[in-house]
Amino acid sequence: MSSKLNTLRAGVLGANDGIVSTSALLLGVIAAGAGATETFTAGMAAAVAGAVSMALGEYVSVSAQRDSEKSLIAKESGELRDMPTEETSEMEEILRGFGVSEKTAATAAAEIHAGDPLHAHLQLELGIDAEDLTSPWSAAASSALSFILGALLPLVSVLLAPHSSAAAVVTLVTLVSLGGTGLVSARLSDTRTRRSVARLIIGGAIGLALTYGIGSLFPV
Ligand SMILES: [Zn+2]
Repeated sequence: MSSKLNTLRAGVLGANDGIVSTSALLLGVIAAGAGATETFTAGMAAAVAGAVSMALGEYVSVSAQRDSEKSLIAKESGELRDMPTEETSEMEEILRGFGVSEKTAATAAAEIHAGDPLHAHLQLELGIDAEDLTSPWSAAASSALSFILGALLPLVSVLLAPHSSAAAVVTLVTLVSLGGTGLVSARLSDTRTRRSVARLIIGGAIGLALTYGIGSLFPV
């Protein structure tokens, strides 16, 4: 369940990235005086490049995390095999740390070690759920997909809007979309809705203003 929630959160973040970075690039190109076709082509290229780099980054980071989790799992299961007594008293200590009395902790640790001690050690000692490791491939694919979905919003709007008002339309679509993703991510993380939506919209507006300004410094 918590991993599904994390995937959803990652998806919303990826979509935000796709929206903001594509619109920022579009505005920079429009401000520099590019025509409609050039603007759309640049936006497409930015969306593809961004999705590839998101996927790559996610693949590398999840793989590294997975490798370190796997080596921790191997180390822990080696310790359980080689020094079960020490590991049992370690479990007792962990349980006492949760406020369990000495006697109950000893009984519980003994029962845990009679069953599946690896699972309990991983969870309580290292915070790892061995049955729920993230796959680097699915993480990469879902972040690329969410980036593309986000990028489509400004791309489609620049395609449909008349070129003379493209900058205004892209800005409006971007800020409204960020309001939407802000609402979703506030729901997902149980935070104060208004504040997180405002943070996103203001951040997005600053980003767009910056690239628009830079674009107009370098006219085509
Ligand atoms: Zn242990």
